[in-house]
Order: sequence, then structure tokens, then C-alpha cells
Amino acid sequence: ASTGEPLVVVENIEKYYGDFHALKNVSLTVNKGEVVVIIGPSGSGKSTLCRTINRLETITSGTIRIDGTELPSEGKPLAQLRAEVGMVFQSFNLFAHKTILENVTLGPIKVRGLSKAEAEKTALALLDRVGIKHQAAKYPAQLSGGQQQRVAIARALAMKPKVMLFDEPTSALDPEMITEVLDVMVGLAKEGMTMVVVTHEMGFARRAADRVLFMADGEVVEENGPEEFFTAPKSDRAKDFLSKLL
Ligand code: ADP
Ligand code: MG
Repeated sequence: ASTGEPLVVVENIEKYYGDFHALKNVSLTVNKGEVVVIIGPSGSGKSTLCRTINRLETITSGTIRIDGTELPSEGKPLAQLRAEVGMVFQSFNLFAHKTILENVTLGPIKVRGLSKAEAEKTALALLDRVGIKHQAAKYPAQLSGGQQQRVAIARALAMKPKVMLFDEPTSALDPEMITEVLDVMVGLAKEGMTMVVVTHEMGFARRAADRVLFMADGEVVEENGPEEFFTAPKSDRAKDFLSKLL
């Protein structure tokens, strides 16, 4: 639920990869505490949009502000800006040769300057919350995909992000593991975390989203509440997409 205060403000961004026009005049405002689900066909620019918000991609034109600070900013180092925008990908990207606990403490020690003891205390509390505390000494390969993704969420949260971006967080998971990850995400949403979630999980959108944004061909085609979007999409492109999804 939103507090009405804008946190992520994307205005008229354009993104080209060479000649390819990947984002066409995209604007998006996410208020504090709001959960926005982005949905749309493969290749529509959903990942590109997330990556530009996190500065993993540069934009060709337009502006992106996080909590009032325009990116890129002169003052703040990139690592710190990235820490404010937690990102969870389809592939969990944990460090294979580090333990679960080390995966979660690394960023807070390096970027936030926490002591090892402080970082471990925070990490264990977060791992507990995602149900992985008892696995803290293990290595990523010893965990299931669903467990690894929950560690990836804990790792992002350990940086105390202002907003969390999820790019198809359950697409690489076996069906029985999807729910455990979505439940963690619903919990975060209920606690008031600001979230942008690329997902085709309609159940999640219905449970947690304040708004659904439909993208196609690099454009935001329509935006609506989840019930309205799923039951009465406005554009032909959204109708066509939903008919294939069901
Ligand atoms: P989605 O996440 O909605 O599937 P993407 O944002 O990944 O879409 O991609 C949008 C379009 O941009 C696709 O056509 C893709 O091929 C293209 N694209 C993505 N990344 C690159 C890149 N690094 N270089 C060139 N084209 C890219
Ligand atoms: Mg994608």
C-alpha cells in the first residue's frame, strides 16, 4: 500500500542497444510502500527497465530518480546507489565458493562498512526470516533453487534497500518451490517494502500488487489495478497476451 510519496521516478526514458529501440518513452512512478507488477511478452523490455533502474544499463535519454536523487549522481558512489535498489534475478547468482552466511554478509561489510559481527547478526536475522538460518554454514550448491532464491532475497535486504526489484524471481524454479519464494515476497509487501516485480504469477499480483503495468515492444501499454487488469484488460495486446497466459 502506498504512502503517496514518490520513491522511484522514471521519466521519459529511452534506451537503445545499437539501433534497437528497447525502451520507448517509458515513465513510471513507484510510491513508498507500493508494489508494482510488470507483465508483458518476452522481449518487451521488462528486464531492461529493471536494469536501468539499478544502473546496470545506462539510458539513452530521460531521467531516473531514487528518493529524490537523480542517477547517476555526482555525490554517491555507484555501489551505494545500487545498495539502495535491491535486485533479485531469475538466476540467483550466489557466490558458489562462499557460505550462505558469507553471501549475505559480504555486501554489508564491504559497502555499508559493518563489522563482521554486526553483519552476521543482521544476516542471521534475515536468514531466519526467509527460513534458511539452519543452512547458514552451507554452500549454495547444497540448497534447492527455492532456498537459494530466498538467500538472494536476504542478501539484497541486508543492504537495507529503499526499493526491491525482482526480475522473474520464480521463473527458474520448480513449481513446488515457487510458493515459498512468493510467500516471502508477499510478506515483504505486507510490511510495506516498496517493490517492482516482473512476474507472470497472477496469484502474486492479485495478492500483493497495487498496480499492474503491461509492457509490449518497449512501451508501457497500460496500467491498472490487478483485478481490473486481469479481468478487463483495455488493449488488444494485453488481451492477446493474457489469453496465451491462461
Ligand atoms: P524482457 O525482459 O521483457 O523479456 P528484455 O528487456 O530482456 O525483455 O529485452 C528487450 C529487448 O532488448 C529484446 O529484444 C532483447 O533482445 C533486447 N536486448 C536486451 N539486452 C540487449 C543487449 N545487451 N544488447 C542488445 N539487445 C538487447
Ligand atoms: Mg526479462
